[in-house]
Amino acid sequence: MKKGIHPNYEKVTVTCSCGNVIETRSTKPGLQAQICSKCHPFYTGKQRQIAKEGRIEKFKQKYKNLQKENEK
Ligand SMILES: [Zn+2]
Repeated sequence: MKKGIHPNYEKVTVTCSCGNVIETRSTKPGLQAQICSKCHPFYTGKQRQIAKEGRIEKFKQKYKNLQKENEK
């Protein structure tokens, strides 16, 4: 890398509107974010719970079918 032509790539903190602070690296100091991995609906506990239950239900259903197969 040539010196003088590259912007400073430094460690910065990104502050989200939910209050979460993320440490990252950027050329811009002090960033603001509207949404982050902690407050995005996709990552909230409620939605994660639904996804988990769905997966378990699918597994149980699969296992039930397997048991029936063995009983034959
Ligand atoms: Zn956030």
